[in-house]
Amino acid sequence: MKVRTRFAPSPTGYMHIGNLRSALFAYLTAKSMDGEFILRIEDTDQERKVEGAVDFICQTLNLVGLKPDEGVGAGGMYGPYYQSERLAIYQKYAEELVEKGDAYYCFCDEERLNKLREIANARKVPFTYDGHCANIPLEEARRRVANGEKYVIRQKMPKEGVTSYVDTVYGEIKVENATLEDQILIKSDGFPTYNFANVIDDHLMKISHVNRGNEYLSSTPKYLLLYKSFGWESPIYIHQPLVIKADRTKISKRNKDDNLMDLINRGFLPEAIINYLALLGWSPKENKEIFTLKELEEAFDIKRISNAPGCYDIKKLEWFNAHYIKNMEDEKYLSWIKSYLTYDVTDKTEDWVNKLLLTYKGHISHGVQINDVVKNFFTDEYNLSDECIELLESDEIVPLVIEKFISEIEQITDWNTDNIKLAVDNVKNSLNVKGKLLYMPLRIKASGYMHGPELDACIYLLGKEKTLNNLRK
Ligand code: GLU
Repeated sequence: MKVRTRFAPSPTGYMHIGNLRSALFAYLTAKSMDGEFILRIEDTDQERKVEGAVDFICQTLNLVGLKPDEGVGAGGMYGPYYQSERLAIYQKYAEELVEKGDAYYCFCDEERLNKLREIANARKVPFTYDGHCANIPLEEARRRVANGEKYVIRQKMPKEGVTSYVDTVYGEIKVENATLEDQILIKSDGFPTYNFANVIDDHLMKISHVNRGNEYLSSTPKYLLLYKSFGWESPIYIHQPLVIKADRTKISKRNKDDNLMDLINRGFLPEAIINYLALLGWSPKENKEIFTLKELEEAFDIKRISNAPGCYDIKKLEWFNAHYIKNMEDEKYLSWIKSYLTYDVTDKTEDWVNKLLLTYKGHISHGVQINDVVKNFFTDEYNLSDECIELLESDEIVPLVIEKFISEIEQITDWNTDNIKLAVDNVKNSLNVKGKLLYMPLRIKASGYMHGPELDACIYLLGKEKTLNNLRK
């Protein structure tokens, strides 16, 4: 059997990390078994459709390397891949079910349904359709349809028995058929519901493994009854755990830490995002965290998807991103990071700018952060944090350390890191200070920060004049 998976987003807006994790797992399911990854657009809810969303989905998938082998943007033999272009197909199959007696035309109007809802409300039970139209003779129903009466097509659920299946992640799922509602397959506007379209499309597109969120876990038996009515073999189901947030807020496209484009625009690298998201709900066999997409394709195993929610933590993503930045080739890093640098560098030499950016390569977790860490190289004034001030006031030796360092720096004629190191050593030896009380005051006074790259490199980049000005403040 050829493994074929699909990512089937509804085009309702920008992608967030939860959407991308779904796409990634579907992609990895396919690639880990030498299969094909298909992009299908589920646009049957016309009201929720957002202009430009499909382009955005395609661009995002390309950007992060999850290129569909087939489907929207890639073409293929099983199209159209927009559900809105498949209405005639759904209608045909729904009518086939009606013919078989496994579905029926329902003419109940809003008024009647509202009454049923009110009754259910009053009884504090969930509303389910009562099967009112199930027994209308087919001839009569067809006549009413031909007369232009408004209708929906509903699935006729068996009144007894049990439907069960084994989900790859959650194990056996069982449902009493008597509890299942005669759900709508085709709405009165001629559009299918998700509940119907997913079955028809997954079958016709030869999807072998269905990856989707676990919110569909318990409705899957209804879909299996449809497969059974048609006499089709059902796919393997991989219901995936939710992604929740470490800070317990809800994932939203509007939140900057969750919105994919926002993350990319702030300088999170697609490789880092993919690497991190793969570990949200999946764990590799070996004890390893860093994976390229290629490596993930090999290591991924659907049996190791967890049924516990994946916990998204921006701090952890920053850690992955910092790792990827640190390991970028210098040349690639420089051209990438320059696109985030907002300071005017026209009066600086290219060599100085490059040295500065390289010095801070290992000290940023995302692109725009470069502007925070190099800020004091571009301004005359800086504000010290309380923590810095506390350290400067923590010991009587501190002013002496700074004073001595000023005189050492003043004497340097050849401005290079070796001489700067020597100056630091001279302070250390003459005052007999070391460690925290030596380096921290110098770093704080010179650069305005308590932490950062090697002290001599920072001071070298600041230049003699600026260093002295800062130290004398
Ligand atoms: N269109 C559905 C959604 O966005 C997809 C569910 C599925 O993958 O079957 O939730």
